[in-house]
Amino acid sequence: MAALPDRCEVVVVGGGVIGVSVAYHLAEAGIQDVVLLERKELTSGTTWHAAGLVGQLRTSINMTQLARYTSELYRGLEAETGQATGYRQCGSISIAATAERFEELKRSASMAKVFGLEVNVLSVAQIAERYPLIQTEDLYGGIHIPSDGYANAVDITQALAKGARSRGARIFTDTKVETILRDGDRVTGVRTADGEIQSQYVVICGGMWSRDLAASVGVNLPLHACEHYYVLFESVEGLNPELPVLRDYDACTYYKYDAGKLLVGAFEPSAKPWGMQGISEDFCF
Ligand SMILES: Cc1cc2nc3c(=O)[nH]c(=O)nc-3n(C[C@H](O)[C@H](O)[C@H](O)COP(=O)(O)OP(=O)(O)OC[C@H]3O[C@@H](n4cnc5c(N)ncnc54)[C@H](O)[C@@H]3O)c2cc1C
Repeated sequence: MAALPDRCEVVVVGGGVIGVSVAYHLAEAGIQDVVLLERKELTSGTTWHAAGLVGQLRTSINMTQLARYTSELYRGLEAETGQATGYRQCGSISIAATAERFEELKRSASMAKVFGLEVNVLSVAQIAERYPLIQTEDLYGGIHIPSDGYANAVDITQALAKGARSRGARIFTDTKVETILRDGDRVTGVRTADGEIQSQYVVICGGMWSRDLAASVGVNLPLHACEHYYVLFESVEGLNPELPVLRDYDACTYYKYDAGKLLVGAFEPSAKPWGMQGISEDFCF
């Protein structure tokens, strides 16, 4: 592997989907001298486990616009980089099992339209038609977002890394940032086991490791890991890759096609924190 440079313009810490996306976009913005450092391999953090839902409806205009941009980026990323991403625009359906939930979904649909996102309100019969795998008798209705979809988070990360490298960014794996260097309140670079890199900017994209790294230079980053689960069912009749991603907020669950299997994930109403005593040095997926 090439030797670490002794200086660069921006150091990105962490090779999950966020770190490589930051490197990709900095390089795309014309900053040639970007160095990304990953302590293990790319995607050895939470990204490895992501279910791959790519949804766009958020509670604010800025977050919705950001999510819309992400969908557009993912749509063209495979053609741009030649790296498969598993992206499929299958749409999404959110269902309501209570009248109040249906009101809430309809309100979000109106808000989304203001944000320029196409959202259709569905009757129970339309839900049954578009998603035949579920019982619909006790539903009130739902909403459909045709431009939502899913992707493979590991492949998206590799594609973004390829796009970043092709624009001049350098990526070093097995290179842990041990210390962020500073002069007073000003960041001056990072120290790794293989040497120091002087840099004016350091972007922390270390996922659940970020809080401790930021705290080491006196920055409060209110991030903490919590447990989240999904289950893969071997075979379900009628399952196919074109089925929309399904969200059932009343049951706190989501459903998606995943390489021939049905993936069922659970939103935790009360998140359970993980790693309260710290995360072990060699932990990775
Ligand atoms: C089960 C599950 C399902 C999910 N499903 C979805 C989904 O469907 N859709 C969605 O959008 N999101 C989903 N998420 C959330 C998503 O996975 C995360 O938000 C995302 O992967 C976070 O990426 P990241 O790059 O911030 O962190 P990570 O992927 O954790 O990457 C951080 C990287 O930084 C590295 N690192 C840490 N410290 C250092 C250091 N000092 N020096 C060098 N490198 C360092 C780590 O090794 C790691 O590779 C899901 C999460 C889980 C757990």
